[in-house]
Amino acid sequence: MFTPIFRRQLLQSSKHARCFSSTRVVATADVKHLGVIGAGQMGLGIALVAAQKAGVPVTLVDTNQASIDKGLKFADKLLAKDVSKERITQDQADKIRSLLSTTTSMDSLSSVDFVIEAVPEIPSLKFSIFESLAQICQPHTILATNTSSISITRIAASTTKDPTDTSASSRVVSTHFMNPVPIQKGVEIITGLQTSQETVDTAIAFCKKMGKIPSQSADSPGFLANRILMPYINEAIICLETGVGRRDDIDAIMKNGTNVPMGPLQLADFIGIDTCLAIMKVLHEETGDSKYRPSVLLGKMVDAGWLGKKSGKGFYDY
Ligand code: NAD
Repeated sequence: MFTPIFRRQLLQSSKHARCFSSTRVVATADVKHLGVIGAGQMGLGIALVAAQKAGVPVTLVDTNQASIDKGLKFADKLLAKDVSKERITQDQADKIRSLLSTTTSMDSLSSVDFVIEAVPEIPSLKFSIFESLAQICQPHTILATNTSSISITRIAASTTKDPTDTSASSRVVSTHFMNPVPIQKGVEIITGLQTSQETVDTAIAFCKKMGKIPSQSADSPGFLANRILMPYINEAIICLETGVGRRDDIDAIMKNGTNVPMGPLQLADFIGIDTCLAIMKVLHEETGDSKYRPSVLLGKMVDAGWLGKKSGKGFYDY
């Protein structure tokens, strides 16, 4: 059941957008070409699943050629595994792979119908990307973000210098996929104050086409998934740094005691220690609530470059 506040926020965003927006966004069936920005663990997963399940061509943009190369290698590995387990045929794998194209220039997104941004969780970086997307993309293109914690209303506002012009901001929405994208079914759909109902409907329908199960959340710090998950991970790190438990004991008790596939410290490594810190900072700063204070050890690990699985070292060595 939705609480009255939650219902009001959801309704408020679509009502505002209906009043202010007359932009026609693309109907779901017309999403013929997807753009994904950021070829890291999330962007690559989103691109691969879109090609595999929704069958659309995907243009994957990353400013770092090494990330693109690493991502494509990983995609090849996942597809080869699917073929070896007879989940798909070699022909199907080749077809999926042929749908993925890569580039280092965002200008290549001028013809896509739907774009999903998955660059690091740095507000100024996301704002500048959405400002550019509003210029580069077509007037019907849905502009989605995979942010874990940054306000969708604020990201949408970065598309224009004139807040009364909602032609681009009404097309901004969050499609917050869960990690690892090829495995996790859940996706959070978060609307900003400016987001139009058509944009929400298209985002939900496209995520379903990708085989995902959408949940809706209001635009509130951490949304639903991370507001619940990150304080849990942060508390596990505080338990480690204050000596309440050792790494293996912390992970073992949660894994064996709550029937989850991995403990909170290993999960932090898989998510990315930098991503965990960024989300805790947003929760702490935006709510002003001390219960969201990031653990000191979390900050130190980022300073050391121990970002988890992606950097080869985190709470565990990879
Ligand atoms: P990542 O560090 O693995 O990948 C980010 C990629 O973006 C890198 O390849 C980097 O080269 C690229 N990039 C940086 N600046 C760019 C630019 N200007 N243009 C194009 N590409 C650029 O990060 P990630 O874990 O994939 O996270 C991406 C987003 O997804 C973040 O907002 C994060 O909060 C969110 N998210 C992460 C998880 C998770 O478990 N890691 C889960 C859900 C959501």
